[in-house]
Amino acid sequence: MNIVKVGGSAGIDYDAVCADIAALWKAGQKLVLVHGGSGETNRIAEALGHPPRFVTSPSGYTSRFTDRETLEIFEMVYCGKINKGIVERLQKLGVNAVGLSGLDGRIFEGRHKDSVRSVENGKTRVLRGDHTGTVEKVNVELVDLLLNAGYLPVLTPPAASYEGVAINVDGDRAAAALAVAMKADALLLLSNVPGLLRNFPDESSLIASIPAADVERYLEFAQDRMKKKVLGAAEAVAGGVKRVIFGDARAGQPVSAALGGAGTVVS
Ligand code: ADP
Repeated sequence: MNIVKVGGSAGIDYDAVCADIAALWKAGQKLVLVHGGSGETNRIAEALGHPPRFVTSPSGYTSRFTDRETLEIFEMVYCGKINKGIVERLQKLGVNAVGLSGLDGRIFEGRHKDSVRSVENGKTRVLRGDHTGTVEKVNVELVDLLLNAGYLPVLTPPAASYEGVAINVDGDRAAAALAVAMKADALLLLSNVPGLLRNFPDESSLIASIPAADVERYLEFAQDRMKKKVLGAAEAVAGGVKRVIFGDARAGQPVSAALGGAGTVVS
């Protein structure tokens, strides 16, 4: 069983990802697909007159400040346009895919963080009204039910808070938590880069392999959102997932290539 997370950055080829997944699925490979949608969400939020606001925490992590309106736009894009677009592609390829968010059946559950610390011009401010959180618990029953009945689950943030409120969570770390909970053999984190680059954006500086015990040391090479992938990889291997691969989803057969060892392999 493998967990495949495909990001939402510009350049990702969803047709290539879905064609590859359909071929693997038909060959009997069990998998769950998790996806993002940040690029499209930013575009649509701009078009709706509610541009995205990113905040950087004192420890250097960047996240989307998610007020209620942003959350609703986020859901429109992630659960609507992107999720149904992927399900439709898979259905056209003869795979019986079912798209759900982490809110559905509380697949992804965690604590709601209402306020976030943001560093702006060297000063730390506290912003309230945030609808974000971190996945702390994965309820796998519904996912297992679907898999055992022959459906391919296609999952996306948001998650459910313990109070049942929708919260924006990081997709890479949600996929890592799912991989641990499902006892997955491998977690694939596919994006629009060849893998973790030693000198981003120099694509020839790909780090081909990282020993599982050292993964947190590699945080120093990751900037902004790539940090969450490295963190997710660390959480997955600490939780017993044998391989995490940062792979390229821009062309070719992204899933097969990553499973074959292309990209950055953490093991
Ligand atoms: P996605 O939404 O596709 O999951 P993210 O935008 O969250 O992807 O993270 C991937 C991005 O991280 C890349 O597009 C790249 O711009 C950035 N990045 C920062 N540092 C690195 C690095 N060292 N190696 C590769 N990518 C990096």
